Amino acid sequence: MSLSVETSPEGKVAGRHGAGALATPLMIGLVVLAACLFGIYTRPADFLATLWPANAILLAMIIRMPGAARPTTWICAAVGYVSADLLTGSSFTMTAVLTAANMFGVAVGYAVHLWHPDRIRSLREPASVLWLAFVAAAAAASAGLFGMLANPLLFQRSVAAGWSFWFATEFVNYVTILPVLLSAPPPAILAARWKTSRLAIRGADILPVLAVIAAGGAAALIGGAGSVAFPVPALLWCAIVYPIFPTAALTLISGVWTLAAVSTGLVGSQFVPDNEIDLVSVRLGISLVALAPIMLACVMQSRNELLARLHHMAMHDPLTGARNRISFRATAEHILQERRDAPFALMMIDLDHFKAVNDRFGHAAGDKALASFGEHARACLRADDLLGRLGGEEFAILVSNCSPQHAVGLAERMRNLVRTPIALENGGSLEVTASIGLLVIQPGDGRSIDELLPVADKLLYAAKEKGRNRVETGGAATA
Ligand code: GH3
Ligand code: MG
Ligand code: MG
Repeated sequence: MSLSVETSPEGKVAGRHGAGALATPLMIGLVVLAACLFGIYTRPADFLATLWPANAILLAMIIRMPGAARPTTWICAAVGYVSADLLTGSSFTMTAVLTAANMFGVAVGYAVHLWHPDRIRSLREPASVLWLAFVAAAAAASAGLFGMLANPLLFQRSVAAGWSFWFATEFVNYVTILPVLLSAPPPAILAARWKTSRLAIRGADILPVLAVIAAGGAAALIGGAGSVAFPVPALLWCAIVYPIFPTAALTLISGVWTLAAVSTGLVGSQFVPDNEIDLVSVRLGISLVALAPIMLACVMQSRNELLARLHHMAMHDPLTGARNRISFRATAEHILQERRDAPFALMMIDLDHFKAVNDRFGHAAGDKALASFGEHARACLRADDLLGRLGGEEFAILVSNCSPQHAVGLAERMRNLVRTPIALENGGSLEVTASIGLLVIQPGDGRSIDELLPVADKLLYAAKEKGRNRVETGGAATA
């Protein structure tokens, strides 16, 4: 099942009009049918389905696919629910009550989610999980209203037990399944990550999964109501190590396993709930346990994103986007040490008469010229080349795997690009020039960045001496 959706540049859902208008609703209807059949075949003889993923899947699809919440989708979903029940021999009354309960629950969940759609959809903030739990509770409570009716009529049980049993069953399904489907990366992104081997698994990464498996084994062997909490430490470990999606998926798998192990006394358990209230308690316990790792994964994700942003801010100059002096020196040294056998080029670049530029055009225009230099420099460089702002209008560039000819060509191209006129707000334009000291470093040179920078600086000084707006080369380039 694909949860991604193609959007046109205008943001409209592809296929909404014309022949494709029914594609999304039909696909959703088919997914609902398949999910219902899955739920029906895993339904224990005496109780409502323990694992009933159809409602959570339908809600997730409507939330994730922009424009999916329209009448044709609801009709196709209803056809999916009804077909599954009728195909498997349910009576018309049973089918009608169950379909109404399922769809009413999903509709209420969708309506409540509209309160904070972005928070719930993105699952990026800790509060997102609380809102998600609220959506799940509202959907489950609404479906439970039908349980109040259905329990006495269809199962000869009490009204109160009808509501609580349906609520607990629906709640555990929503709370465990929704986070997986909402955090699932689109297939294209997963495929791209696979290609760039960002999914490569290191040995230590597997340990939290092994801990979840061990906890599942203990839950099955020891059993009892307390075993609902056995996976908590392992799942919290997952939340610290993995992103939200794998954490949510492991939480779902662990929840289903615990549900099966505890509800049915899978492997010699001493505790087999034989009344509805025990089952309600187990399901609520599993639901509430599931919230903790997912919330921690959200906190970790927002913390990691914040740290990455702060790290970027601490290492880069906001005006030009270049690395700052500390970051340039540290990274350049690392690259030089790592690739000792490669040729490099080191450039020191200084904008000419920049004080006069500021004096004549103003500081804001000077800033614009600096930002423009940053853009031009980055346009000339490859991804693993390094651009640093060492001081006010002074920059350094370390180019990896660079022949002397390529280095000279690059420096000249940069010198010419810097001269591109910069449009000013008053309608005029400003032109700056740069002097460049270019040092070509032969393979196996062995000098540190702190030894190389003064040599490149001397070349820059020579370029200034010789009249500015020129490249002065040294090292192997002169040979
Ligand atoms: P030279 O050709 O010899 O390099 O002359 P210069 O005027 O460029 O050199 P000098 O070191 O005398 O002046 C550098 C000027 O750069 C002075 C300072 O006002 C300006 N500058 C430094 N940082 C910034 C900045 O962030 N924004 C702006 N607008 N100007 C800056
Ligand atoms: Mg200067
Ligand atoms: Mg200077």
